[in-house]
Amino acid sequence: MARYIFITGGVVSSLGKGLMAASLAALLQARGYKVRIRKFDPYLNVDPGTMSPYQHGEVYVTDDGAETDLDLGHYERFTGVSAHQNDNITSGRVYRDIIAKERRGDYLGATVQVIPHVTDAIKEFALADQGDHDFILCEIGGTVGDIESLPFMEAIRQLRNELEPDQTVSVHVTLVPYIAAAGELKTKPTQHSVRELASLGIKPDVLLCRCEHPLPESERRKIAQFCNVRPNSVIPALDATSIYAVPQQYHGEGLDTEVLRHFAMLGTSNPPTMSRWEDVVDRYEHPEGEVTIGVVGKYVGLPDAYKSLNEALVHGGMANRTKVNIRWIDAEVFEQDDSEIVSALEPLHGILVPGGFGERGSEGKIASVRFARERKVPFFGICLGMQMACIEAARNTASIDAASSTEFGETSEPVVGIITEWMSKEGLQKRSADTDLGGTMRLGAYEAKLAENSHVSEIYGGATTISERHRHRYEVNSHYMEQLEAGGLIFSGMSPDGLLPEIVERPDHPWFVGVQFHPELKSRPFDPHPLFSGFIAAALAQSRLV
Ligand code: GLN
Repeated sequence: MARYIFITGGVVSSLGKGLMAASLAALLQARGYKVRIRKFDPYLNVDPGTMSPYQHGEVYVTDDGAETDLDLGHYERFTGVSAHQNDNITSGRVYRDIIAKERRGDYLGATVQVIPHVTDAIKEFALADQGDHDFILCEIGGTVGDIESLPFMEAIRQLRNELEPDQTVSVHVTLVPYIAAAGELKTKPTQHSVRELASLGIKPDVLLCRCEHPLPESERRKIAQFCNVRPNSVIPALDATSIYAVPQQYHGEGLDTEVLRHFAMLGTSNPPTMSRWEDVVDRYEHPEGEVTIGVVGKYVGLPDAYKSLNEALVHGGMANRTKVNIRWIDAEVFEQDDSEIVSALEPLHGILVPGGFGERGSEGKIASVRFARERKVPFFGICLGMQMACIEAARNTASIDAASSTEFGETSEPVVGIITEWMSKEGLQKRSADTDLGGTMRLGAYEAKLAENSHVSEIYGGATTISERHRHRYEVNSHYMEQLEAGGLIFSGMSPDGLLPEIVERPDHPWFVGVQFHPELKSRPFDPHPLFSGFIAAALAQSRLV
């Protein structure tokens, strides 16, 4: 049976619990263990799919089509283990399932209550699908003391009693703030947080203390004494130079060692093999070239809205030993003032139009595609970005002036339109314009066939079939393919049935690729996605021209 590590957070939110969970999992993996990470989100949405990226950052999509919290992206990037539908649960999903059962009469007349019904459902989720994993890490969203996280805390308390004593470890992430006026680090918030957790019946075994200044030994002992943990189990976590340096740093502070000690596994565990992380950090910290990429999008005010994209660009840089500067550009500014386009895009070595929803900013994105095409600047269009590339081609190379997407309203030339039927692994899927917005897109991994001798098949190392993750409601309309190809935009990737365009490219351009899927979701620091490696290599070549 798997061992369980429960990760909670205290004092404030945004302490990087997700990154901590991912790093701990990576360290256990580096010792040869098989790991899996799960996220418990206390909010009432069934999944984050309907939330604005401004609310909750990017929606991360798994191979099996779940729309999940962005922390699952960290988990995958740090461990390479693909997450599943059942690795992310929300209060909303728990309540939805319980209420559906209640309506069916499954509870046989019982009063349905938070304890035991909600807590049982949470425990069931934690214990499901253990496979042959050595460790299952469970991260609880939010901060100890939140009303909405109480059932999750109670479920953990119960599990710690029900499982064997050396089968669970509780890690609590806190903040040790620095008060500049006093010149001191303050341990009181950590003490309060641990007391709050203890009042819920959970004693932490390991404390990970986020701090901006080194934690003196005296303060470490004080935290240990007041919080009822071993001094060695108080792990200082100073801000790292980059997220990729975090596993090595936490290892240096003894995090994995302490966790294994609590499981009584130190004697049998091998030391971790850290070469993977040493190479990643070396590539990140010692670049030999530098490029500037412009991302022309809508949610540019919040970096978390494009988390995976940001990371995939960095991975593409690592593959080329190149520092990637990302300039986030609001597509809307191009709509107010044409001259802005040249001044914003001219200094760039590559232009990327990412995924997005809605009409706002779309004309600015189309103008950016045109600039990249005409000036022969490397261009990468992802999902909505590919759709914009097709509309640009229709308008400016095929004289279809009214070309648009039905996502933006009625149009006489639907170069991009709603898809009402498609084949998935589960069989024929049907949708209409007025189905629910939640969970009804083309979601998850789908295959695409690549045209022989195309640029993308070369990028994918000669592959003829690929599998990539999708999240969209609209598709490029294959009725326009012939006209767009005559204008130089080639459809080099199609769904296996040949009906849905997956990839477009321009043979007359140094690097121009649009993809209907989200390759950024599958890029890893130690295994950069070939499309991002290729794009950054092209940007590097461009930087040597200008
Ligand atoms: N809004 C577009 C669609 O639904 C693109 C989605 C995306 O970029 N993820 O098809």
